[in-house]
Amino acid sequence: MSKILVIAEHLDGKLNSSTARAVSAAKAVAPEAIDVLILADRVETLAVDAAKIDGVNRVLTVERSENAHALAAMLAPQIAKVAASYSHVFAPSTTFGKDLLPRVAALLGVGQVSDVITVAGPHAFTRPMYAGNAIVDVEVPAEQIVVATIRTASWPAASMSSGSATVESIQVDVALPTHTRFVELKQGKSDRPDLQSASRVVSGGRGVGSKENFDIIYKFADKIGAAVGASRAAVDAGYVPNELQVGQTGKIIAPELYVAVGISGAIQHLTGIKDAGTIVAINKDGEAPIFEIADIGLVGDLFKLLPELEQAL
Ligand SMILES: Cc1cc2nc3c(=O)[nH]c(=O)nc-3n(C[C@H](O)[C@H](O)[C@H](O)COP(=O)(O)OP(=O)(O)OC[C@H]3O[C@@H](n4cnc5c(N)ncnc54)[C@H](O)[C@@H]3O)c2cc1C
Repeated sequence: MSKILVIAEHLDGKLNSSTARAVSAAKAVAPEAIDVLILADRVETLAVDAAKIDGVNRVLTVERSENAHALAAMLAPQIAKVAASYSHVFAPSTTFGKDLLPRVAALLGVGQVSDVITVAGPHAFTRPMYAGNAIVDVEVPAEQIVVATIRTASWPAASMSSGSATVESIQVDVALPTHTRFVELKQGKSDRPDLQSASRVVSGGRGVGSKENFDIIYKFADKIGAAVGASRAAVDAGYVPNELQVGQTGKIIAPELYVAVGISGAIQHLTGIKDAGTIVAINKDGEAPIFEIADIGLVGDLFKLLPELEQAL
């Protein structure tokens, strides 16, 4: 039978909902047990929150000062040690998990399954490749521990209020490296909803034309309480910072509503919104590929249509 260890992602004392999404993927394996592992310098509130995730049996905590920041070099040896009694190790396929799990896999001497979108069995998964143009069946040898990152946009978050897991503090006796140290974390500050987890997102592309013009996107997003995203062309042109990029080399998101404004719909952009609910496209070119996937399309000048739409709302 399978026993799955899910690695908790957190920042500033708050559990990221990506953890509950990874738990959903773990539940799809129908394992004997799902445990969540929290590595932090202060675990208390994180453990209380993780214990509430539906489907979790135990929350294991490792509290030590070296775990104050999510340094993969520090966390990986501890996870590899704890993983010895598990059949699977899952982490979200976010920057955190993508940085961390390859090290865990290497320490365990196995390959990693990346970006799991469906579970076909305890050792069988699917994952996208070629910017989502192909879906691949991946099978892990049955005798091998499965180390996998979970594409968060493809899994709903397990309920974060109905669980009642037990919490256990554990000691992990393993030497930690001295070659890596935390210097600082730089991140954009915004009062708008977080792009990765927002239920509504308004994105602008090259068609918006300039950094100043992007105000029209921010204004519209604020009107409907949405996060702001962008195409890579808009980021490369310096209209917005790169943490707003949506797509293959940006954020993979699954909002209920996605509004693409002045975005042509290149495959590398579309791969980032594959799991979005309703897609609305505003583009002056009626032949733009974005209209092939849009549920609602408005053909016209964004500078005319957006204010009209805002007025109507
Ligand atoms: C390896 C690789 C990775 C990539 N990763 C990403 C990624 O993560 N995310 C991403 O987005 N791209 C990515 N790209 C780039 C991608 O191929 C496209 O170049 C990019 O998405 C185009 O951005 P855009 O749609 O804003 O620009 P364009 O393709 O130039 O489209 C602009 C659109 O705006 C419309 N428009 C112009 N003016 C107006 C107006 N006044 N009103 C209404 N519409 C107007 C035009 O009709 C046009 O359709 C990647 C490319 C490669 C090779």
